[in-house]
Amino acid sequence: MFDKSRALEITKLYLNKYDELKDLLKLQSRKSEDIQEDDLKLNSLLNVYIEPTNRCNFNCTFCVRENMNRIYNDISLEHIQQIINALPKGSYISLLGNGEPLLHPHIYDIVQYASEHQVFASIITNASALNAENRKRLIRSAPSRVQISFESIDKETNEQIMRGSKFERELSNILEFIYEVRQTESKILITISRVDFEDSAKYAEVTRKFWSKMPIDNYYEGPLLSMQTGSGKIDLTKHEESYSCCANPWIDIKINSDGTVNPCGLDYDSLYIIGNVNNEPLDKIINSEKAIRFRKAVLTGDMDFLDSIGYHCGRCNSWTSQIGGSISGFLETSFPIRLGLVTNEVAGDRPQDTAFLERVLEYLRSGGSDILSEFRDELE
Ligand code: SF4
Repeated sequence: MFDKSRALEITKLYLNKYDELKDLLKLQSRKSEDIQEDDLKLNSLLNVYIEPTNRCNFNCTFCVRENMNRIYNDISLEHIQQIINALPKGSYISLLGNGEPLLHPHIYDIVQYASEHQVFASIITNASALNAENRKRLIRSAPSRVQISFESIDKETNEQIMRGSKFERELSNILEFIYEVRQTESKILITISRVDFEDSAKYAEVTRKFWSKMPIDNYYEGPLLSMQTGSGKIDLTKHEESYSCCANPWIDIKINSDGTVNPCGLDYDSLYIIGNVNNEPLDKIINSEKAIRFRKAVLTGDMDFLDSIGYHCGRCNSWTSQIGGSISGFLETSFPIRLGLVTNEVAGDRPQDTAFLERVLEYLRSGGSDILSEFRDELE
């Protein structure tokens, strides 16, 4: 059923943010010394990234974790509940980070707590822990969106990239999950994603085709992002475009598993800390002195400061490839897409054609694993 009160909360949140970003456009023409602290304060966020844990059971080739200097942690349930309590209704939390969220011992309680408090929760997982029992728990906890990382429909390629994975186990978990969600009234929006890079390029087309035949809501292919250079898989010098203010620090924030807060979600090693939710409330942190200093540098293109804290915004490909290239670009491209996706989580119809899914499941349940050969005719 269409949830009017949720739709209203989202509309208010996005309208406020739209106005805030429009005001920011006017600020861009001012001299740096004429920009006051109050001009840089945030009223709201569209999304809070929360890293439930930075532990992971995989070691993907593109991942930065090998070079991460942070110690392993699980955020406490109590702290996540405090964060959720402080967020306006209709807010969005994305449970991910540099770890596998389903390894957190209270992950289903966290998701359930968010949905009961009218905060949208999305979760990104590698699906390794999505066994029959956990699928039930996840569906019951009612996340708004589940995004599953899966790199290639070719077994060898997938296992070479997602080191530590077992192709048949993950694919079965994903497909059983999709099937079970579609058998219920659940509105969970299901996205499958892969990183668009050379290691999986050979089977990219057939992988895309495979997911196009599945009853999922969204298939997403994204590039490796500049701040994730720790993996050694991306060359920063290839992204020398002329910088225009990135909208990210006005819409998202990242809370790490140890409670530290970064002003950009891409800061995998927590290089610039603007506060800690274990010591102070999030609404104070987002307008702390360090947060304001950071946003001023992003707005005015102060690369000396940004480079000095390890944020190479001038060479970052996130604001060009995902954020829209500028504040106005964001308002015209990414903003309506984000609003559309969130609105769809409340109101959208879900794909229901499970015919191909059931056939693949039957093949996997009988011990098959060579999807490319078995379904060659349909995937060519
Ligand atoms: S330019 Fe990149 S690193 Fe800088 S704030 Fe935007 S997304 Fe983060």
